[in-house]
Amino acid sequence: MKTDKIKKLEKISSALEPNQQRFNRMNKDISQWAEKFLIDLKTLPAHYTIQRRKKLPGWKKLLNKNPGSSKNLLKIFNQKIVNSGVNPASSGYVAYIPGGGVPWAALGDYMADISNLYSGAYFACPGAVELENRMISWMCHLLKFPNTAAGNITSGGSMANLIALVTARDKFIKKFKNQTNWVIYLSSQTHHSVEKSLRVIGLGDIKVRKIPMDKHFRMNTTILSDTISSDKNSGLHPWLVLGNAGTTDTGACDNLIVLSKICRKFNLWFHVDAAYGGFFLLSPQGKKIMKGINYADSVVMDPHKGLFLPYGIGAVLIRDKKYLMESFKYQANYMHDIYREEEELYPSLLSPELTRPFRAMRMWLTIHFAGMKALKASIEEKILLARYFYERIKKIPFIEAPLPPDFSVVLFRYNDGMNDPDTMTQRFLKLIRKEKSFYISSTLIEGHVYLRLAVLCFRTHLIHVDKVLDTMLKCRLPFRGIV
Ligand SMILES: *Cc1c(COP(=O)(O)O)cnc(C)c1O
Repeated sequence: MKTDKIKKLEKISSALEPNQQRFNRMNKDISQWAEKFLIDLKTLPAHYTIQRRKKLPGWKKLLNKNPGSSKNLLKIFNQKIVNSGVNPASSGYVAYIPGGGVPWAALGDYMADISNLYSGAYFACPGAVELENRMISWMCHLLKFPNTAAGNITSGGSMANLIALVTARDKFIKKFKNQTNWVIYLSSQTHHSVEKSLRVIGLGDIKVRKIPMDKHFRMNTTILSDTISSDKNSGLHPWLVLGNAGTTDTGACDNLIVLSKICRKFNLWFHVDAAYGGFFLLSPQGKKIMKGINYADSVVMDPHKGLFLPYGIGAVLIRDKKYLMESFKYQANYMHDIYREEEELYPSLLSPELTRPFRAMRMWLTIHFAGMKALKASIEEKILLARYFYERIKKIPFIEAPLPPDFSVVLFRYNDGMNDPDTMTQRFLKLIRKEKSFYISSTLIEGHVYLRLAVLCFRTHLIHVDKVLDTMLKCRLPFRGIV
């Protein structure tokens, strides 16, 4: 075989391994873009009007044949991508559950991507796996889990919930094969990823009990206990109680101690979805609110929420690693065989993924460069900002704020005592949204419209919360008679 063709192809494909000069140039251009973005962020809107937006060109236009320039790329990125929809990096992003995206993490991703270390199996890169495990140990320590615990750093909270539910399913299925008699206990505030996961893992047909909540949006534990009891008596198989440590909508944290006692009494799996609330364990207030989380069988927490990391990192922590290992051991056992007890556990033994990004790197690098003191201060600041906001809006006569926040979500609505609050709240939101420097979202609570301020971006400070308050005061609606 002649090798001319091979050599020719080698030459053409050399753009994949750029020469140092070209790489440095692009690197510099992208760094400069990042620098400018972070400076501009102080004045960029928190959300954009998308009505008149021009779409990206079709894929054929995006797939250039020859190496492209950074100028072209940045033009498309700046004009068509970064300035559309909402701006979750903004200090004014107080909608849904903010994250923020600490810039440090990007450097961790950079190192992980350049080195392309394989963190799926211990033999492939013991150091990377150890780092994954150290981050998991730290989270288990935050939860005060015993040293039987293990976990996995996932792509997000939804995947983490899925892994927890699979683990709980596999433990139970040994006892009760007929899944139609299984019962899960949750509330109407449970995150929808749970329902999705149940369907994905073949438990779409089990019985779902939505336990009513008290006026603080916490699961009513007396009703929970009574329901489990009566389900048992009628021959059903109560399986799992899902507690929330910070619901997405209301930010409420269930009474985890009582839930754990009920689970122990009836021998149920206790899963806590702390995707939003988990990292408030770094604050004294959060620790107090989440008392009892250490009794959970499994916990989900999202570093891309409460640890302010960029999107793409969640975590599941399982109290007894035995169950997690049983669920995810390999079908083709050739790799499982090489796992030895004295070795560390590694991600592909504990999750559906084999090849995965080296996610711990962005977490550790952020902690390393920012320091724990800064992370702790920021998370406590968020709690105090939400409390401050709540105290201030309590004094606004046309605002109704039903509850003090558990963590950092404050619910409120427009209620002047005369007009229909749902209609007025919608109008109020429309008016507020004209101000682009912050972005709040609305939700339906038991059929009624509420607005919610969610403080979780590390960039959100007192001055930004004050801006929301000032705008609210300016947006008082004119009295329009009974609507
Ligand atoms: C965000 C969230 C999830 C889902 O997590 P993702 O990281 O978005 O997949 C699950 N549960 C709760 C309570 C959440 O706030």
